Amino acid sequence: MTTNSTHVIVGAGLAGAKAAQAMRDCGFDGRIVLVGDERERPYERPPLSKDFLLGKATKEKGYVHDESWYAEQDVELRLGSTVTGVHRGGQQVELAGGERVGYDRLLLATGSAPRRLTVPGADLDGVHYLRRLGDAEKLRDVLTAGGAVVIVGGGWIGLEVAAAGRHYGAEVTVVEPQPTPLYAALGREIGDIFAALHREHGVDVRTGSGVTAFEGEGRVTGVVTSSGQVIAADAVVVGVGVIPNTRLAEAAGLDVDGGVLVDENLQTADPAIWAAGDVASAWHPVYDQRVRVEHWANATNQGTAAGAAMAGKGEPYAKLPYFYSDQYDLSLEYHGHVGAAGYDAVVVRGEPGAGPWFAFWLREGRVLAGMNVNDWDAADAVKALARSRAHVEAARLADPAVPLTDVDRLR
Ligand SMILES: Cc1cc2nc3c(=O)[nH]c(=O)nc-3n(C[C@H](O)[C@H](O)[C@H](O)COP(=O)(O)OP(=O)(O)OC[C@H]3O[C@@H](n4cnc5c(N)ncnc54)[C@H](O)[C@@H]3O)c2cc1C
Repeated sequence: MTTNSTHVIVGAGLAGAKAAQAMRDCGFDGRIVLVGDERERPYERPPLSKDFLLGKATKEKGYVHDESWYAEQDVELRLGSTVTGVHRGGQQVELAGGERVGYDRLLLATGSAPRRLTVPGADLDGVHYLRRLGDAEKLRDVLTAGGAVVIVGGGWIGLEVAAAGRHYGAEVTVVEPQPTPLYAALGREIGDIFAALHREHGVDVRTGSGVTAFEGEGRVTGVVTSSGQVIAADAVVVGVGVIPNTRLAEAAGLDVDGGVLVDENLQTADPAIWAAGDVASAWHPVYDQRVRVEHWANATNQGTAAGAAMAGKGEPYAKLPYFYSDQYDLSLEYHGHVGAAGYDAVVVRGEPGAGPWFAFWLREGRVLAGMNVNDWDAADAVKALARSRAHVEAARLADPAVPLTDVDRLR
């Protein structure tokens, strides 16, 4: 079927690129315009704090599609171009410079941006953030130079950069206000295991105090903590979370509440507009609530789902949140959705630091989330437990002799 419809995608990141691909895969043969404010064609960000930062992968490996793919698929890729407004009445987006592009269907895939610190000295040279390819290129030079690197924030990005810093022989300190690194994502028990992992690799992990200022004349030389310490720094990396890029949606009068609100088909209340990836707060049929996920798999899968829906082949999006991380020789996958306050017990199976191990987060005896460490083959069983919210006996779950596929069979 030939159509004259135009689909505009705002945000040429992973979700946007996957949406364009899904539209073509689903047979949409109208016009697709993919607009992004970065100069690079869509690429994946996880390597920026892992193999690319470690010098083990080139940037070529990170692109979502080959350069030729866009012409082959007749996708108009407008790079270095910012969408400044969405005019819903006339169904047009406005680009910086004033050009307008009409749409029949619009996808907002604007992602998120690093939360910036506003403490005194925050704009000194040598204070870095990590989101874009150019940031990672700069940071790689900083880490290879060695010296004292202070990382503000013990989240995923902070810890992965800490591991890269140690790889290059830098002296690394992590400053984290919570009781442990990864506290918000994994809670105290497993956060403690990550603190120990990084200390074993020579990282000075300081928890329970935040950063109140950066010192230096033009260039950062020290980090002042809320407990009054001053930590010498040749460079600082700030990784204190991200803020979804919702400004366009808000200005267009769409519903926004910590993310662009969409239903389980990733559609906003405006039937011509969808949202996917980091920016979308989507109704999740498994959790009976809206969930916004800032991870790679969500951008891939929601982008694909939104593209299919816009091509008329949608189905409710019900995939379980998932993420992965690599630090030193630890590789993990996490399935589910809990956070620090959502569980009442943690079960560890196996011995952290000695081969594969697992963690499960439970509430009232039911598994809500699970993590497999250094055992990729177990991912399906862990995911199945987290999805089923199975009622389990903690002792069986902790016992490596009981297959994960059997732990929900109560004796
Ligand atoms: C260093 C790093 C490491 C990561 N590691 C992992 C990991 O190990 N595992 C994991 O699961 N996740 C990881 N993530 C998270 C993952 O990369 C993100 O969830 C994913 O990139 C989100 O994709 P997205 O397409 O929704 O948004 P983005 O990747 O943010 O892309 C959105 C794009 O839209 C552009 N844009 C925004 N507004 C406009 C506008 N008005 N006009 C034009 N363009 C616009 C942005 O500049 C950006 O290019 C990591 C992220 C980073 C930064």
